[in-house]
Amino acid sequence: MTDRLSGKRAIVTGAASGIGEASAKMFAAEGARVFCVDLDADGVRATAETIGDGTVAHVADLSDPAAAEAMTAAAIDALGGVDVVYACAGIAGSGTAADTPMDQWDRVIGVNLTSKWLSFKFALPHMVEQGSGSIIIQASIGGILGVPGIFPYAAAKGGCIAMTRQAAVEYGPSNVRFNGIAPGQVPTPLVVKSYEGGGGMTAGMGVEEGMRRVAELYPLRRTGTVDEVAALATYLASDESAWTTGQIHVIDGGITAQ
Ligand code: NAD
Repeated sequence: MTDRLSGKRAIVTGAASGIGEASAKMFAAEGARVFCVDLDADGVRATAETIGDGTVAHVADLSDPAAAEAMTAAAIDALGGVDVVYACAGIAGSGTAADTPMDQWDRVIGVNLTSKWLSFKFALPHMVEQGSGSIIIQASIGGILGVPGIFPYAAAKGGCIAMTRQAAVEYGPSNVRFNGIAPGQVPTPLVVKSYEGGGGMTAGMGVEEGMRRVAELYPLRRTGTVDEVAALATYLASDESAWTTGQIHVIDGGITAQ
């Protein structure tokens, strides 16, 4: 590793598992001080312990505005400020437009859209005051392409894409950058839950068979890895991407190209 994030203070949400966990570890390996946040107490503590160097683990349900505000205050206190927020936490969200129950809609929008906003909302005044900041919002190709059976998830991810562009325009003059990441399929616990929930292109197949069939659809003939997405997040967190804002960075083995 090359210290590409040396001096950066980063909040990473969803740090207990999958892409958020890999990103928290990569940010730290690149020299950032990382504040790890998740609903899963054991998982987020394990990530922070693995990173070491006094890395703080913070447990919060980020769909709760008071918890998100308290999280940001604790991060600024622990890190002495904040330069990067990677809003990565998310959940699966199956259902069609007709059969999605209201409570499922509320939870999926609450975690996959509202919590993304709340994860950076309270950091923004600090970034504006210091005249810099990089905010990374985890979208999905599910917010770009229609995929049968993930109606509430797609609606939330489409909202993440619009939010990224909107906030980039609002905060560009303050040198606070917003970039979205839209991955294709990366095997993680969220994807397993999505298969178990019966959503997506492979509804009705088992997890293993579904993943194998999906991998065949990609031009690169495989799904992604958490480290491949973490590497993109590292670039967007770093000053290497200083002139990049308002963009949705698709990382998907080429599936949206066909
Ligand atoms: P994951 O299940 O491995 O990790 C998600 C983490 O978010 C978990 O640790 C979970 O506890 C945490 N979380 C869930 N609800 C929370 C809440 N209310 N408050 C705080 N933390 C909460 O999943 P992942 O695949 O690594 O997903 C990370 C992000 O990437 C999500 O936003 C997901 O939608 C997005 N994404 C994933 C894929 C994929 O194929 N894995 C594809 C596109 C987008």
